[in-house]
Amino acid sequence: MRTSFVAGNWKMNKTIAETQELLSAMVGKLEEISGVEKVVCPPFIALSKAAEMLKGTSVGLGAQNMHWEEKGAFTGESAPGMVKELCGYVILGHSERRAYFGETDETVNKKLIAAEKAGLTPIVCVGETLAQYEAGETSQVVTSQTRLGLQGVSSEFASRIVVAYEPVWAIGTGKASSAENAQAVHGEMIRPVLTELFGAEIAQTIRILYGGSVTSANAAEFFSQVDIDGALVGGASLKVDDFTAIVKAAAK
Ligand code: PEP
Repeated sequence: MRTSFVAGNWKMNKTIAETQELLSAMVGKLEEISGVEKVVCPPFIALSKAAEMLKGTSVGLGAQNMHWEEKGAFTGESAPGMVKELCGYVILGHSERRAYFGETDETVNKKLIAAEKAGLTPIVCVGETLAQYEAGETSQVVTSQTRLGLQGVSSEFASRIVVAYEPVWAIGTGKASSAENAQAVHGEMIRPVLTELFGAEIAQTIRILYGGSVTSANAAEFFSQVDIDGALVGGASLKVDDFTAIVKAAAK
């Protein structure tokens, strides 16, 4: 039995003051919902304030990225140990980082190994672009990203990994995947690779989230699928009522 998981990726939205405002309105409502792991991922600059506000609550805090090195001459980057001082979670390999900042399966894997060392729970994103989807390459892309991104970690850590299937064509477009399509990718492409990497028993414990235009209106349909264990939510995670409704739907 996998505990549902919902994370909000705020991307490059919300100043420190706005983070304070949004969390003040949101945390109490999220606290009322049990039976689901809840995480918010504000921008780096606001993590310290968010950590202060979430201390002692059931709402976890995640970073949207990190470097794999422990310290050194990497201007503008944050090390795993620095992230761990504030957060329990980190998003790795988001498609926006792959598309705009040169993230590759190799760097995702280095970061994953660093996350294990730092004691962070990673949310590893995979997903095909629109061109790849239209060319019928979803399986090839998603299985290869999963295989290359997730190799080389201990089985103990593997069961803590959270995978997010985020078809790039569905992110921020308002055009979500159908629940059936997402289920097929989770159940027939991603979970078999997890089985290959870590064995059936551990593969069954790994949460696979769907991400891409999840809303309060479509969330329940995704969560009714056997291999969809929650959601990585962008736009709707910035709206208190929408995000709360999505978390509630996952808890059912
Ligand atoms: C995301 O940022 O990972 C995402 C899925 O965004 P949205 O929910 O806005 O499509």
